[in-house]
Amino acid sequence: MDLTLSPDELRFRDDLRSWLESSGLEEWRREMAGKKTLEERFAHSRAWQKRVFEGGWAGVAWPKEYGGRGATLLQQAIFLEEMARAQAPPLANVIGIGLVGPTIIACGTEAQKKRYLPGILSGDEIWCQGFSEPGAGSDLAAVNTQARLDADHFVINGHKVWTSFGWVADWNAMLVRTDNQAPKHKGLTYILVDMKSPGVKVRPLRQMTGESEFTEIFFEDVRVPAENVLGKVNGGWNVAISTLMHERNTLGASLHVNFARQFRQLVERGRSLQRNGRPAVEDPLVRQKLGQCYAEMEIFRLTQMRALTKVNESGVPGPEGSILKMFWSEYNQRFQQVASELLGPYAQLTEECAEAPDAGQWAYGFLRARGNTIEAGTSEIQRNIVAQFVLGLPKSY
Ligand SMILES: Cc1cc2nc3c(=O)[nH]c(=O)nc-3n(C[C@H](O)[C@H](O)[C@H](O)COP(=O)(O)OP(=O)(O)OC[C@H]3O[C@@H](n4cnc5c(N)ncnc54)[C@H](O)[C@@H]3O)c2cc1C
Repeated sequence: MDLTLSPDELRFRDDLRSWLESSGLEEWRREMAGKKTLEERFAHSRAWQKRVFEGGWAGVAWPKEYGGRGATLLQQAIFLEEMARAQAPPLANVIGIGLVGPTIIACGTEAQKKRYLPGILSGDEIWCQGFSEPGAGSDLAAVNTQARLDADHFVINGHKVWTSFGWVADWNAMLVRTDNQAPKHKGLTYILVDMKSPGVKVRPLRQMTGESEFTEIFFEDVRVPAENVLGKVNGGWNVAISTLMHERNTLGASLHVNFARQFRQLVERGRSLQRNGRPAVEDPLVRQKLGQCYAEMEIFRLTQMRALTKVNESGVPGPEGSILKMFWSEYNQRFQQVASELLGPYAQLTEECAEAPDAGQWAYGFLRARGNTIEAGTSEIQRNIVAQFVLGLPKSY
């Protein structure tokens, strides 16, 4: 594993840094900090994504003919790191860019690539991922939303749940059941559904953070053109696996930069906070815990680099992404717990409160981290994947 950047990669990074400097980033950042609601923040991210797209930086590793930059996966990782380091607003189309786009590139027809990819990169069409159902989460093959072929359309009936961005999405990348007789993995189809179709009803779900990032979606006789199937009818399982692998690899891509920033912030807080008449960072227990967090953060960063080197060689994300997903999500929960212990009651103050440290990020972070070990597949499922596909152990029953 070579950790030094090649001349090409250095040039790429420097071009990006110059573009960021000329893009009025400071102003974008300041405006984002003033946005109070999820909806306002989303609208700002969408405008920022447009700017990034127009600057030619969206879809760094996507083919040029579909609006991407045609760069390498390592350059894409550099892009994500630099954006995180500069604290740029996030791109709005998280699911479109990270999950659906790469799946369309891998499994879509030429017509589908031309139709959907540019809108994903510009942010003109926002995507969500309709996989989970009340009876199908970890056991994704149990999906039971029905799609029946009627001439050249599928008619969809069913219920999806925990759909992030469902409240704002224009399109939904869905897994549906097209054959009830076949073994359960073999009766599924991956289909792209226009969320404005008659019969689609979206209901927000409130999380413990107070936000409604995700939704449940009801489908009643929703007609979807058969040409919207991605891959083959009844061949949706393999297409879905492609999405999940991208999900596990991209979700954590620039996290180590954010983790490092939060860690430094916490250490600074610990210097000024008093515990037993001394700065909290002099407390032996606090030091033990911060030292442990730092070591874990480094392990995560290096493991990610190793995974990236492998993906760069093979071109596709593999089951090793599960190691990363499991590690960062559990680390974040441990780190938020340490922050909470160090800050004491202050850690519970939310952003509306003037005394809340760092604009309430610790209260929010603690609550939001609980979902990390569930979203994109629970820790138990990641361990099963590592056991079966990385270690070669027998399949779980
Ligand atoms: C913040 C957030 C965002 C999400 N966004 C989306 C989204 O955009 N689109 C989407 O489709 N879904 C989304 N989800 C749903 C998520 O993918 C599911 O919640 C997750 O896959 C778990 O499924 P479940 O909730 O049905 O739990 P279950 O599958 O019912 O699991 C319950 C418990 O049993 C354990 N378990 C289940 N099977 C096994 C097994 N074989 N071995 C060991 N333990 C097992 C699980 O680990 C878990 O602890 C999101 C979830 C969250 C929290």
